[in-house]
Amino acid sequence: METLSVRCNHCGAPLQVANNTRFVTCQFCQSSLEVKRTDSSVFTEEVAKIADNTGRMAESLEVITLQNEIEKLDREMGIQPVASAQKKAGLVGGVMGGAFGIFFAVVCFLMAYGFSSAGAGVFTIVPAGMGCFGLVMAVVSVIGGVNHEAVNSTRQERRAELERQLAELRQK
Ligand SMILES: [Zn+2]
Repeated sequence: METLSVRCNHCGAPLQVANNTRFVTCQFCQSSLEVKRTDSSVFTEEVAKIADNTGRMAESLEVITLQNEIEKLDREMGIQPVASAQKKAGLVGGVMGGAFGIFFAVVCFLMAYGFSSAGAGVFTIVPAGMGCFGLVMAVVSVIGGVNHEAVNSTRQERRAELERQLAELRQK
């Protein structure tokens, strides 16, 4: 069998490896070595080092993934400086919509009361129905405003968490 002369990448000891061997353990320092071949040379590289590089690559991949997710959250929330203004508009809009709905409902119920006092009979149902509709609109509006607020603060929390993970990775 043909053998190759290579040097241990860790301690420099000469090693004989079979032509088709890919992994070898140095008899002198017990390093795990990978035999690498190029057109012009054969050399060894410590397997531990390769694993280390792979680890670093995985980490930078993780950084990219985190950055992408943060950017996506920013897009969803709008650009950062206006995000809090938007958040207020969502909640305030919801409450204002709710207040208007209640006002509308009260006016309708007063009309219904007026109709029934005037003996309008079955027609009383029209303003009463409109009043109920106003109440439903008020509830939907307030829930919408509160939800908007909740969704945004969940995003803010998620973003803070991602930022923290990113900072941790960068410290390494
Ligand atoms: Zn060695």
